[in-house]
Amino acid sequence: MSAGHAATQVEQVPCTGGLLLALSPVPPLTADQLAALDPEASRRRENDLRADLYRLRAERPGSGVCADAYNRLAWECAAMGRPLGALHENSADEAERFFAKTVQGPDGHVYWTGGKHFRRNDGMQRQPARWWWEHEHGVTLTAYDTLEPTCGERGCLNPDHRQHVRRSRQIYTEAQMLGGLQVLAMRLGHPPTTYDWTRSGRKPTTNVYQNRFGTWEKALAAAGFTAYRSITRIVTRADCIRALQFVHRLTGKWPTREGFEKHRDQLTAQGLPRSGTSITTHLGDGSWPEAVRQAKSNTD
Ligand SMILES: [Zn+2]
Repeated sequence: MSAGHAATQVEQVPCTGGLLLALSPVPPLTADQLAALDPEASRRRENDLRADLYRLRAERPGSGVCADAYNRLAWECAAMGRPLGALHENSADEAERFFAKTVQGPDGHVYWTGGKHFRRNDGMQRQPARWWWEHEHGVTLTAYDTLEPTCGERGCLNPDHRQHVRRSRQIYTEAQMLGGLQVLAMRLGHPPTTYDWTRSGRKPTTNVYQNRFGTWEKALAAAGFTAYRSITRIVTRADCIRALQFVHRLTGKWPTREGFEKHRDQLTAQGLPRSGTSITTHLGDGSWPEAVRQAKSNTD
């Protein structure tokens, strides 16, 4: 970049200057001064001029000041020996590469024209809005940090249009949640119901379990309580007798197997065994008449 080349560029690009320079915080320099800037200074200057251009486009869309700002950017970059435009998409400078893929919308919105992620110089991928936020604030966002758009434009990247929300660190891992179920089950002697869990005052709430696992039963299954129903409904001989007595009182007669199973719902509501198989398994050695006989003999 020779001073002579830069001077030619300055002559070729008319820049009205006056109003723009009054609006811009970037002080004017001569072509020779621009050409003498070191690469870091010229990079900063270009970024400042770009920021200026974007700001003016947002504040005064379509005005001549924007055209002036663009012309100023173009000729200053030429004077500094910096290529404009597409070449920046391959720049070794991370910020240059990033901003080359942004476009300015109305009201200060800024949109992304690149892929889903932006690749940093260290090889890490970032969502564009998160990269810009980190770049602007000099922070590293974690999985707990979310950036919510506040301008109503979901795709808008502008950090000034985003609100930083830090989620609670009180996040339970699956292993912690399942371990909690196992501990309480051991204490209770059976897998906990949602009622047991809530009454124990343990965290997280049953809602969190249901959101994570789908249902409470699925959470229990994941905790290893695959036989949840049979474990919580351990059927004893006495239960079978009470079940037959219950149907006897309900109908006034000792039921057949089919007659018994017609009362499934009432039996379930009473917490009693409801299938003929479960009766004959625990009472009567597989025989329904024998089960009924034993129930009768236990009834006054
Ligand atoms: Zn916006």
